[in-house]
Amino acid sequence: MKDCIFCKIVDGEIPNYTVYESSHVLAFLDINPHAKGHTVIIPRVHAETIFDLNEELQKEFFPAIRAVMERIEKVLHPDGYNVGWNHGAVGGQVVPHLHVHVMPRWEGDGGGSIHSVIKNPGEVSVEDVAKLFS
Ligand code: AMP
Ligand code: ZN
Repeated sequence: MKDCIFCKIVDGEIPNYTVYESSHVLAFLDINPHAKGHTVIIPRVHAETIFDLNEELQKEFFPAIRAVMERIEKVLHPDGYNVGWNHGAVGGQVVPHLHVHVMPRWEGDGGGSIHSVIKNPGEVSVEDVAKLFS
């Protein structure tokens, strides 16, 4: 996509610090890291969200996340990770090209768990929400 910053990285128009790449996936260091080695993994083809990602790439993505983590593991030896993505503007997605964040974690780094992203369960009980899925 013409105006997409991550498509421009894929095309080499914008430089990146590559951590891992395959024919379908590129992973590079986040330019504004929230942890040492903070990496984003993107499909080479433009897809705004996981709902737009073709089936082949859906299958490739989980192994790619693992490959990136293995690479970080060998180079930086973190104590843990937070891995996830912001989906949609309300979810905090700024770049509209699907990207999974891999944030290495270290003992005593002061960070929280993925649970610290949001605490807004609402008034409805888990049982009532479960009914909506049955
Ligand atoms: P998100 O809020 O999930 O859309 O995150 C977008 C991420 O992309 C941010 O963490 C940015 O720091 C990162 N980012 C934006 N431009 C670049 C770039 N040119 N190279 C590397 N990371 C970038
Ligand atoms: Zn794009």
